[in-house]
Amino acid sequence: MEITVNAFQMAQAQFDRVAGLLNLDPQVAEMLRWPMREFKFMIPVRMDDGSIRTFFGYRVQHNDARGPSKGGIRFHPAETLDTVRALAMWMTWKCAVADIPLGGGKGGVPVDPATLSTSEKERLVRGWVDQMWRNIGPRQDVPAPDVGTTPQMMGWMMDQYSKLVGHYSPGVITGKPVGGGGSLGRTEATGFGVIYTVREAMKHLKLDPENSWAALQGFGNVSQYAAIGFVDLLGGKVACVSYWDRDDRMAYTVSKAGGIDPHYLQSITDQYGTIDKDKAIQAGYTIEDADAWIEKDVDVLIPGALEGQINAESVLKVSDRVKLVAEGANGPTTPEADEVFKRNRVFVIPDFLCNAGGVTTSYFEGVQNDMNYYWTKTEVLERLDTKMTQAFEDVREMAERHGVFMRDAAYMVAINKVVQAMELRGWI
Ligand code: NAD
Repeated sequence: MEITVNAFQMAQAQFDRVAGLLNLDPQVAEMLRWPMREFKFMIPVRMDDGSIRTFFGYRVQHNDARGPSKGGIRFHPAETLDTVRALAMWMTWKCAVADIPLGGGKGGVPVDPATLSTSEKERLVRGWVDQMWRNIGPRQDVPAPDVGTTPQMMGWMMDQYSKLVGHYSPGVITGKPVGGGGSLGRTEATGFGVIYTVREAMKHLKLDPENSWAALQGFGNVSQYAAIGFVDLLGGKVACVSYWDRDDRMAYTVSKAGGIDPHYLQSITDQYGTIDKDKAIQAGYTIEDADAWIEKDVDVLIPGALEGQINAESVLKVSDRVKLVAEGANGPTTPEADEVFKRNRVFVIPDFLCNAGGVTTSYFEGVQNDMNYYWTKTEVLERLDTKMTQAFEDVREMAERHGVFMRDAAYMVAINKVVQAMELRGWI
């Protein structure tokens, strides 16, 4: 059944608005409103009990004017061609705003991976590559992990591709395990990238990080390293983090009066981002309700869990002290909440700029694979800092020049870069 407002329609509407602000030639806009290529294919898999189950796979290459398409593969029951199209388009803008020479792509399989055994998962991902190998590759389209897919699956996919092309080809896919072609620093990359942009925004807003407090939503990969970065790299204090408790099936906020120790909390957090609440209480932490994080009297809010968390209702709980919102998660602020932030002059670092550290380090992984030479973690993070700082500056400068908010400015920077590449290649 087709849903009325779907992700792809939303992605097109966002694009149309900024294309209007840029006075983009309607013929060029039409080219960018649609993916360049879409693949839908069948993947029959022999299950452990001997039966054959038919899966369907998708890959969408939205635009590759700036370089090979880049984007993850999602295994999720709600995946549709339209969610994959939207995510592919957003990847085009994310790679362009981060100024990495890649285009936008995304893939998916509608499946709940928790229902498959390890060997069924392996056969499914190898089957995905069997169908797509002619249309992916280090110079064509480079997938990566996303919701429901893991570094191990990327390792199997890289192996299958290498067998089919007849030579070792690690650069076909990123997010591989370290030691199997993966990059050091990938684990920290998104969260630290968030903090590099926070640091630049605080300079711009003349806020002193050492006298600043932050509150975070979520305590998974992104939020853990954003919290660690805020404390260790900037010298700030973190009032609280929140998380989804898988046993209690509800979310909580974990806080401490003098500021939390993110390293300690990380040591009592499982791989799904659930904190051991009893250990936290024993260590002097307070457990508050799910929304407490958004109400804290802090300078910086970092939503790092889910989409739609700062909405028309919850935005009214945000303290007047908040000057900066750094969107670690994808789509955490709804358009209604965005309007409130604009009115209250809260500075927002938009998601596809703020959390671009992940894809930037995936790009570094591909570069290292190409050279067959691997950087130290320090080298990776230094290069990431340079890229994120420049990306932030480009967007801030665009916002100032055109008197627009950071989200619109980020779209403007991204679309301009893609259009310029299309011009230089003679497509338009
Ligand atoms: P994750 O699964 O590692 O962590 C998610 C965290 O959110 C967990 O701590 C979980 O307990 C918490 N959570 C879930 N529901 C919650 C709720 N209702 N209230 C409070 N906390 C809740 O995920 P992640 O990789 O950290 O990704 C987080 C967000 O960042 C997602 O929007 C993702 O798309 C985006 N993102 C991630 C990366 C990356 O490299 N990991 C890159 C770009 C964007």
